[in-house]
Amino acid sequence: MSNHHKLIILGSGPAGYTAAVYAARANLKPVIITGVEQGGQLMTTTEVDNWPADAEGVQGPELMARFQAHAERFGTEMIFDQIHTVDLQNRPFTLKGDMGEYTCDALIVATGASAKYLGLPSEETFAGKGVSACATCDGFFYRKRTVAVVGGGDTACEEAMYLSSLAKKVYMIVRKPYLRAAEIMRKRVEEKENIEILYNTNTLGLYGENGVEGAHLVRFKGEENEEKYDIQIDGFFLAIGHLPNTDLFKGQLELDPQGFIVTKGTSTATSVEGVYAAGDVADPTYRQGVVAAGSGAKAAIEAERFLQDKGEK
Ligand code: NDP
Repeated sequence: MSNHHKLIILGSGPAGYTAAVYAARANLKPVIITGVEQGGQLMTTTEVDNWPADAEGVQGPELMARFQAHAERFGTEMIFDQIHTVDLQNRPFTLKGDMGEYTCDALIVATGASAKYLGLPSEETFAGKGVSACATCDGFFYRKRTVAVVGGGDTACEEAMYLSSLAKKVYMIVRKPYLRAAEIMRKRVEEKENIEILYNTNTLGLYGENGVEGAHLVRFKGEENEEKYDIQIDGFFLAIGHLPNTDLFKGQLELDPQGFIVTKGTSTATSVEGVYAAGDVADPTYRQGVVAAGSGAKAAIEAERFLQDKGEK
């Protein structure tokens, strides 16, 4: 099966949906290929308090449902597929997915970023049995139990706060002697009575019979006063940052050393003419939904101009 489209947008987070709204209104008849995690990272966020004009805050999944409805209102076609191979060396570009093959004259990459893991063998052993990178998805299973959150950034603080409303106790495992999160978030977790912050602490491994029962930790690793100890936990949540979803584009698009797509100056143009990148996949700095949405709009405008110049609009 081959499906040709003027513009394909890969990814269904704020960047992808915003690109679709702009492109659809410009009559490009865009197609969004959603990927497996439709809606992106905001689907696993509870309260979004910094979405402009939502003065009372909005739940992440509700916001993403509104994004989708907005894109569909102008005729965006949604394809629920996962692309595994791309050929961007020749135009039309070719994308191969689990469900079929697609070609397009212009492409917007908005595949986002995914959670990082520590790389411990026991994380794999207990995948789905106590290890998670999404408190919103899995927190429900830990009501009145004890959990740990790894990380000291805004995500870790948000996850810890969320879990603290369900679990009996929440440990935060923080490798530095401080939290790097924004002050308001820091205060919230520090003042929450059932959150205990373990500073200067790293995780050595997890243990348990059929699921996570505890974590082996080390405080002041490699220093004179190094101390190893265990905590008993039922769940272990990772919140240590994200990696851009760019495996698909290795050797096809220019990537920076961390794997983010390199864009030209202030535009969303990539190293391949006709391919644009928007959102977290090209943003190692801001990683905000509103910034992603803004770059999605830019990408659609640039793709439209490109197609117009080529006489392919
Ligand atoms: P960050 O990169 O900000 O924080 C990652 C945390 O994980 C840091 O505390 C880091 O430690 C720790 N870490 C990283 N690798 C390891 C490791 N191998 N072992 C142990 N700890 C590790 O990521 P976030 O996901 O928290 O945030 C990303 C961006 O998104 C930030 O700009 C943040 O402000 C923003 N954000 C904003 C929100 C909001 O405004 N509501 C909500 C969530 C995120 P160390 O400090 O030592 O490097």
